[in-house]
Amino acid sequence: MGRLIAISNRTAADPSARAGGLAVAVWESLTSTGGMWFGWSGNIVDEVAAEPETFSDEGVDFVVTDFTEAEHDGFYLQYANRVIWPVFHYRVDLAHFGNTDFETYAAVNKRIANLVVPRLEDGDSVWVHDYHFLLMGGYLREGGWTGPIGFFLHIPFPSPEVFQALPEHEQIARAMADFSVLGFQSKTDRANFVRYLVENYDAADEGDGWVSVFGRRIRANAYPIGIEAEKFAKAATSETAKTAATRIGRFLGGRNLVLGVDRMDYSKGLPQRFEAVGKLFDHFPTTRGKVSVTQIAPPSRSKVEEYRDLRIQLDELAGRINGDYGDLDWIPLRYLARSYDRRVLAGLYRIARVCLVTPLRDGMNLVAKEYVMAQDPDDPGVLILSQFAGAAEQLSDALIVNPHDTFSVAETINQALEMTVEERRTRWEKLRRTVASEDISWWRQKFLRDLGVNEA
Ligand code: UDP
Repeated sequence: MGRLIAISNRTAADPSARAGGLAVAVWESLTSTGGMWFGWSGNIVDEVAAEPETFSDEGVDFVVTDFTEAEHDGFYLQYANRVIWPVFHYRVDLAHFGNTDFETYAAVNKRIANLVVPRLEDGDSVWVHDYHFLLMGGYLREGGWTGPIGFFLHIPFPSPEVFQALPEHEQIARAMADFSVLGFQSKTDRANFVRYLVENYDAADEGDGWVSVFGRRIRANAYPIGIEAEKFAKAATSETAKTAATRIGRFLGGRNLVLGVDRMDYSKGLPQRFEAVGKLFDHFPTTRGKVSVTQIAPPSRSKVEEYRDLRIQLDELAGRINGDYGDLDWIPLRYLARSYDRRVLAGLYRIARVCLVTPLRDGMNLVAKEYVMAQDPDDPGVLILSQFAGAAEQLSDALIVNPHDTFSVAETINQALEMTVEERRTRWEKLRRTVASEDISWWRQKFLRDLGVNEA
């Protein structure tokens, strides 16, 4: 059986980084196949050593490289996070095009490909992750690797019209077609990618995921990523979760909790969400004094400037809503710009009557799935989910909203608060079944099967 070779910007070299679902999934595959994991060491240095750092853990060989300041800036902060990220989330207006960042992005992809190729053996399969390495397939082929290469895009793939705003769209698309299997979060993302190829390069969509383009056949499919569902359900009744629930319970004083949990990123639709909350109190007076909205919003490290602007906007909106509606014993909306441990979140999800997941665009959105798994089966809460989150394709029994239509979101929050326990249970049971069965192992197996990897 061949080995699996993973490539991602951050690896799980540090055992504490093996907690997240993706890291767990990749880690499990690598330990079962005896694989290798390539990526960034996390260090920024003046000069990169000729040889990368290598070490082994539980049969997995890590090969990690440092970045120079120029690489970290051009590759990671600029091209990946200030060009690809906004464009792929349909925010062309926020993209910083130009100068030499694409060259640095390409050079880092190539440098890492050059670390990988000499270490590959016949029978290996490569699995590349995310928008940092869109060009990796091309460089691995250039280096002479002819074996299977899978790629999974964790963020959305935009419609062709938006993708074409990228000056380098053709180079990127050609390199993407060098992967053997391309995985997207949703059918919409997959359809966008294929439509771009069909309209521009006469590609043929041949069915069962197969696409012919640039003289070769590739497989492009939707593989919606899942969570460690059962583990999360257990975490929701852990001591840590119960303590968190008790702490927030003191603040709630018997009111209903409406919860949001998102990195503070412009893709998450936080200002629109706050506006919807303002409209809830405005138009549905029975909710006043009866509902506490709590938004957890840890800042994103990679988008400092954008975060600053968003922060100012949210401060203003929250200030206005609390000023207008707050009372001596009630803070209608509060947000906490810090991060919490997942087990703490699990406890908060469990007691939240409503969870607001209203991104303007999201590859998947794992918070939605975590919320579902954390519910008390006898008294489950209601998930309000944006139609623009990848998760909406699977979770159609949530209350699906258009996050731009803030009045309708306000109405939907009110509907969720008034929903009978029978309807809550019926909806939740269907959601739970999907999240529990299409979990992280299901996702991993589905992808690796198409890539031709047999796990032990
Ligand atoms: N998360 C966390 N602590 C926080 C906020 C979020 O551990 O304070 C986790 C959350 O539980 C989820 C992930 O971060 O697993 C966010 O994933 P999602 O797909 O919702 O959004 P992303 O941040 O990847 O865009």
